[in-house]
Amino acid sequence: TPKSHSIEGLINKRLPSEAIRLLRELGDTGDALGLSVYAVGGFVRDLLLGMENLDMDVTVEGDGIFFAESFARTHGCRVRSHPAFSTAVIVRPDGSKVDVASTRLEYYESPGVLPTVERSSLRHDLYRRDFTINTLAFCINKDRFGLLTDYFGGQQDIQERIVRVLHNLSFVEDPTRVFRAVRFEQRLGFHIAPHTENLIRNAVRMNVLDKVGGTRLLNELILILREREPVRAVFRMAELGLLPSIHPALKQVGEAERVIHETTQVLAWFRLLYLKDHCEQWQVYFLALCDRLKQEEFVGICKRLSVPGRVVSRVFGLRNRALGVLEAMQRRLKHGPPIRNSEVYYCFQGLPLELLLYLAARTRHEEIRRFVSLYITHLRQVRCTLDGIALQQMGIKPGPELGYVMKHLLTARLDGTITTTEEERSMAMSLIRQST
Ligand code: ATP
Repeated sequence: TPKSHSIEGLINKRLPSEAIRLLRELGDTGDALGLSVYAVGGFVRDLLLGMENLDMDVTVEGDGIFFAESFARTHGCRVRSHPAFSTAVIVRPDGSKVDVASTRLEYYESPGVLPTVERSSLRHDLYRRDFTINTLAFCINKDRFGLLTDYFGGQQDIQERIVRVLHNLSFVEDPTRVFRAVRFEQRLGFHIAPHTENLIRNAVRMNVLDKVGGTRLLNELILILREREPVRAVFRMAELGLLPSIHPALKQVGEAERVIHETTQVLAWFRLLYLKDHCEQWQVYFLALCDRLKQEEFVGICKRLSVPGRVVSRVFGLRNRALGVLEAMQRRLKHGPPIRNSEVYYCFQGLPLELLLYLAARTRHEEIRRFVSLYITHLRQVRCTLDGIALQQMGIKPGPELGYVMKHLLTARLDGTITTTEEERSMAMSLIRQST
């Protein structure tokens, strides 16, 4: 029998009243249907830790889809259900979501007796979870509201800040849990328990990750690289041997250490600009992680991880070109005349932010970092006042000639040799005269 005590006081103290109301409403639906309903998983873990987390997961002892649909009907919500997994997502009018799972329906099948849901089905359900800290549940039905169920010692592990699996075959059953262990350890500032760490090392030695599909591996990696401070997790993965089991070339990730640390700095700088542009942090770190890799190795890793085509065509597929640009710039700084703004512009044009930030992290030249900064904050927004239509009205025919004049004007704008519409107009005129 599990330890069970009420955390209603904690719920009332730590959760916003809106969240408490939602929990109670979900509980009421459970009462009306005669089903036990529990808040479970990361939501409960973070509540006990005092960390903000309003992603609610509930588990219904019984049919979760039926529960979700009933709740939605009476509360004006929509439902997306996944019958294959007996799960559903309640989408509330404000767009917030509640994940609903079902414990497996298990019946005592004795003839003549009405089927009853097996009492311990919640325990069964929680036993399939990754770590003890994620196995806590509290009931949200009215008569037991806030009653915490702790089958596997999750409370103690939260108190002692330990990430621990429930059983020895956990990582064999689902190898992606090795990444989840690192993610929780680093995010929460916990420690992977010594025995659990041994199980990870054994699993890695047994190459269990080889059997995991690319997409699942990539998703776990993305979750880590999207964390607020992923660097320690990256080196922890390296230390546990997780990275080489993705691809042998990732063995030397230590050589990329400088670039990985610089990436953190560059991303912090970028965030302070408060630009509207979205930047995928995980992609910048991914590029940093692969810094020392040859192009074929990089392509190999992308293949192994089934990186989606849209990410390849938007970002990763341009890596080689970006590295070429960086090299050319470095050569030019050593030998050639000073680099003009327009040259910076034409070099970086077409490269997505993620690659630009990676280049800034990678380069050892302060000037190049300044160029990236100048491009992101200023140059890429530069436009001429006279557009194609205005220039055609001045008598320039559409086609190569128009393209030539437009590029010339933009270059002059970028380099600051012209600054007004009047100057644009007279420059366009003299270009027309020259060409005729
Ligand atoms: P986060 O704050 O990152 O969302 P979380 O604990 O809510 O953390 P999710 O990835 O959203 O994690 O998963 C929800 C719950 O499902 C977890 O608490 C965990 O118990 C369970 N879970 C998720 N993935 C696995 C897995 N691979 N094996 C076992 N249980 C898992």
